[in-house]
Amino acid sequence: MATIAFLGLGNMGAPMARNLIKAGHQVTGYDISEKAVAAFADAGGRAAGSIGEAVKAAEIVFTMLPAGPHVDEAYRGAGGIFENAAAGALLIDCSTIDVATARAVSAAAGEAGFAMLDAPVSGGTVGAEAGTLTFMVGGEAAAYASAEPLFAVMGKTVVHCGDAGTGQAAKMCNNMILGISMIGVSEAFALADRLGLDRQKLFDVSSKSSGQCWSLTTYCPVPGPVPTSPANRDYRPGFSAAMMLKDLKLAQAAANQSGASIPLGSGAAALYNLFCTQGGGDTDFSGIFAYLSGQVPKQM
Ligand code: NAD
Repeated sequence: MATIAFLGLGNMGAPMARNLIKAGHQVTGYDISEKAVAAFADAGGRAAGSIGEAVKAAEIVFTMLPAGPHVDEAYRGAGGIFENAAAGALLIDCSTIDVATARAVSAAAGEAGFAMLDAPVSGGTVGAEAGTLTFMVGGEAAAYASAEPLFAVMGKTVVHCGDAGTGQAAKMCNNMILGISMIGVSEAFALADRLGLDRQKLFDVSSKSSGQCWSLTTYCPVPGPVPTSPANRDYRPGFSAAMMLKDLKLAQAAANQSGASIPLGSGAAALYNLFCTQGGGDTDFSGIFAYLSGQVPKQM
């Protein structure tokens, strides 16, 4: 049994922390939302009133926060993790943030005497509840080895990607593939509609041909061919277009900093930005099909 602090008890953090409790660990939770802390206490967690109180006795500290600035502040800020964590504590950030901040916070952790891992996840709230997340982990091998049993409690697939920041790099590269492929599949269905090609027939062909991909066969953006996809429930998320836009912007920032050429990634970011600014942000990201084909998802 490990003594764990979990900071950020939102849509993802709360079910992840609950799975750690169910596995028999002693978990102390903190969130700036008192409601989130109260719900966590109802689920058997120990409630803390501050970051300092949550982390002071923890062997492992998890964070699951909205974005880079929140992570930077929680670790480096006054009253934050570096000021209050016990010597030898292992720090693990599971938030999705930019590579530059992940590397800067990890370097600062090293200077403060802590080992740190960046460990963003995919699998969404459903995977967080079910304990089937995929963890993409960056950081030193020894730290990874000691955290692996805890990742196995919350996830099904765990990959050590390399040094600090490579977990975040894997996350944004994967989601850039996803954003681009969803637009590609959506454009194909929109074109098929105009050409009088039945959607199911296109699915039957492409799901067995070279156009096959996850966006088509698991998360099909038109209603019908894949009954579990959000297209069959008026594009209720799932994974919102706003979150896809966040990840595409992180990829764009990383490409700018590293000099990588990502013309389709940039185009995908621009298109999701349009979709979001025109009211599609809370729609599932596969609602981009409806946007491209001139239909309006009901939630917009
Ligand atoms: P969320 O907004 O539901 O939860 C974030 C929580 O952090 C909130 O409860 C907020 O009050 C809390 N918080 C903010 N600042 C804090 C601080 N200083 N100290 C303590 N708590 C603080 O977001 P979420 O959906 O749980 O996502 C969390 C992270 O996971 C994000 O980086 C997101 O991109 C990533 N992610 C989300 C999904 C998803 O499907 N929701 C999937 C994969 C990755």
